[in-house]
Amino acid sequence: MKPTRETFGNIPHSSVVLFYVLTVISVAVFAYGLWRRFHLWRQGVPIHVRELLAGNLSKIIIRLKPGFRRLVREGLGQTRVKGRGLPSWAHIALFGGFMILFLGTTLLEIDHLAEGISPSLKFHKGIYYVIYEFTLDIFGLLFLAGCAYFLFRRTRRPASVGHRATDWYVLGSFLAIGVSGYVVEALRIVWQHPTGLAAHCSPVGLSISEWFASMTETTARSAHRIIWWLHSVLVFGFIASVPYTRLLHIIAGPINLFFARAQLGVLVPVTMEEVEKSERIGVSTIEHFDQQQLFSLDACMECGRCEEACPAFATGKPLSPKKVVQDLKGLMTLALSHRKLNEKPSTIAEAGKSRGPALHGDTIQMETLWSCTACSACVRVCPVRVDPLTLITDLRRNRIAEGALTGTAATSLRRMQASGNPWGLPIAERAKWAEQLNVPEAKEHPQFDVLYWVGCAGSYDRRAQRVSRAVVKLLKHARVNFAILGREEKCTGESARRLGEEFLFQELAQTNIATMAKYNVRTILTQCPHCLNSLLKDYPQFGGNYEVIHHSQYLERLLAEGRLKEPRESRTNGVITYHDPCYLARVNGIDQAPRSVLTATGLNPSSFAHELREMPRNREKTFCCGAGGGRMWMEEDPKKRVCSLRSAEALATGAKTVAVSCPFCLTMISDGVASQDDSARVLDIAEVLAERLQL
Ligand code: SF4
Ligand code: SF4
Repeated sequence: MKPTRETFGNIPHSSVVLFYVLTVISVAVFAYGLWRRFHLWRQGVPIHVRELLAGNLSKIIIRLKPGFRRLVREGLGQTRVKGRGLPSWAHIALFGGFMILFLGTTLLEIDHLAEGISPSLKFHKGIYYVIYEFTLDIFGLLFLAGCAYFLFRRTRRPASVGHRATDWYVLGSFLAIGVSGYVVEALRIVWQHPTGLAAHCSPVGLSISEWFASMTETTARSAHRIIWWLHSVLVFGFIASVPYTRLLHIIAGPINLFFARAQLGVLVPVTMEEVEKSERIGVSTIEHFDQQQLFSLDACMECGRCEEACPAFATGKPLSPKKVVQDLKGLMTLALSHRKLNEKPSTIAEAGKSRGPALHGDTIQMETLWSCTACSACVRVCPVRVDPLTLITDLRRNRIAEGALTGTAATSLRRMQASGNPWGLPIAERAKWAEQLNVPEAKEHPQFDVLYWVGCAGSYDRRAQRVSRAVVKLLKHARVNFAILGREEKCTGESARRLGEEFLFQELAQTNIATMAKYNVRTILTQCPHCLNSLLKDYPQFGGNYEVIHHSQYLERLLAEGRLKEPRESRTNGVITYHDPCYLARVNGIDQAPRSVLTATGLNPSSFAHELREMPRNREKTFCCGAGGGRMWMEEDPKKRVCSLRSAEALATGAKTVAVSCPFCLTMISDGVASQDDSARVLDIAEVLAERLQL
């Protein structure tokens, strides 16, 4: 006889009927909770689902493919959960176990329905049955291991992880579901006496059944019914509680993965038409966020990864990306009830009270918004792609439009507008750094191959000017046909955009795009990762499409082509470390080229004299220098400087040279290093190479 078992074996018909009644009730409670959340999400600006589904099938598939790929890779494959040691593996075990048990239960129900139609349709038997039982038995263990770990971890109350009373219920009920499932299995084995494969395909259940071996069949049957009910009630409780507890991320997480913006460093432009229509810029009430942003708030399970990665939080500033998300989530829930009260106030007193807390001021403080360095670390680490940075930028846009930014950053914005650079220095002095170097300018040499985009720092900042000179020497040495725009170049507007001053950015971008169109610019080389990101990802939104290359990539290419010859002996003494700029390594994935340039200088990890030593946080996991998001133009409490933290990490490697590849990082890390070790120096990779080549 083929191994099998009855789906509701030993369960009386009346209990089966009650089971289905309770299933319907728990699903109804689940659906009601989800419907309530759906109403909260609907408060936001509509996302264009209809546009996604317009056109013929192949067009729809092309549009939906990236979302499905993220769902499979990051949702089912848990790729964004990895990388955090034991908690990651515990989540993968819990998730894997949960998915298999869920799938198994669904298949069992399908089998039961099929059998109800015709006994010949039953497929839960034979080899299928053996594989099914064995798989569920093993994955049940993974599920339990994951639950046990998270319960244990909760007793330790790690600071970055959110804690709610319902978390104990969720994990406790998961554990009880897993354990009671095994006991039900064991008791079934006791009263059913399966033999051979039919028994051994459930190794865990079989082992537990030995504890109950002394039971009579009648006792085992009674105990089986009791534990089966306990197990079922726990499962009903789980289903019903999903929308009301942290489990909501099971639903909102995958939805967010599907709809989230995939690329780091991209902002959605604001148009004048939108402003005229909505009579606002940015977000001033919770309903001004779009629907994807609102359901992303429900996707957050308060894992605290974003907070741990945040440089503002690490230096004691009043910003935690996790708290921003949770505070907005709280406001989203409150806002709807206050709106309903407003629509139908039953008393005059209620009508007065129904305004609720404001978004700006009551929920999110100004200091919180301006603390963000726009480093994208929070976005990169979030397992479900919640994007605190975009939430913050949308809020900043509104504050800027309302004139709420004051101090040095506001002055820089005014200077950008008036002089085309944040220092407010004369346009006529933009190319002064290049005097005596005979640098070709585009208007005199329009036949160039590469436009060297110097940027404001490279043009006006004395320290960064030395980097520009090093780049020019290297380009000339390699006989590159290049030109600069000189006084025709203006600030890219990157800082303005990240600060929230969208229309100033657009004005600067359009001016630069028009200038570059005049010279038919195709390829741009820049030493500034902020300019690179803006030219690469912001400018195409306004018609500026270019090949944008960072100087590390270009120098790597020149070295590989032999146009820059690797020297025999190194001039760079001692240990060197390299700091990855956020907008280069994390946001644009450029992390190997700078290392190749440094390695080409004769450095290699096995050399004691010239050693490239990595900091613990490197490449895409790099830690910000503190200058991004317009923070470059703000005063910072000397005791809370991000650059001090990063410089200490750099110096802890034992390095006497800290290499960078960004003018903002050059300023910040130089400050941080100077305050801690005056014998160490900070150099751009172009300077390291030029020094080695004795240029
Ligand atoms: S936003 Fe993402 S990373 Fe931050 S706590 Fe929520 S789920 Fe975790
Ligand atoms: S972008 Fe960086 S500074 Fe801003 S909230 Fe995220 S991690 Fe913190």
